[in-house]
Amino acid sequence: GKRDFSLTREPGGSRDVPVADYPRFVIQKHDATRLHYDLRLEVDGTFKSWAVTRGPSLDPKQKRLAVEVEDHPVDYGDLEGTIPKGQYGGGTVMVWDRGFWTADNGDPAAALRKGELKFTLGGDKLKGSFVLVRMARDRTGSGRNNWLLIKHADEWATA
Ligand code: MN
Repeated sequence: GKRDFSLTREPGGSRDVPVADYPRFVIQKHDATRLHYDLRLEVDGTFKSWAVTRGPSLDPKQKRLAVEVEDHPVDYGDLEGTIPKGQYGGGTVMVWDRGFWTADNGDPAAALRKGELKFTLGGDKLKGSFVLVRMARDRTGSGRNNWLLIKHADEWATA
């Protein structure tokens, strides 16, 4: 509903994506009005999505703001290229990392509702254990939920 598909070639969920052995994740570097990294985790057949403003970090001391955005269809994970100006999130998109992930604290949909999702990524750039923690709802009226994306200390962590 935020897009005019006669103007943008962004995937709209019309293509069936086969179920894989593990849920997918993708991080799309999005050079929009403000550069950000869109983290997408496949949960129950859709991509739960966050815009990570400074990009993910492998340093457990770095807490990265991750602004929750609307769910995206799983076929969106293949998108690279330029989204026309004026379309929601216009700008240039490249796949920065992708792979599979596992939830580490039970059912991921329930963990997200509770506001704390522990998970492990198996990507090319990002590997190992992370947590997404929901912060108190902001009062700026944006209506968005702000989360923090934090790397856990493990063999994949770096300073
Ligand atoms: Mn984006």
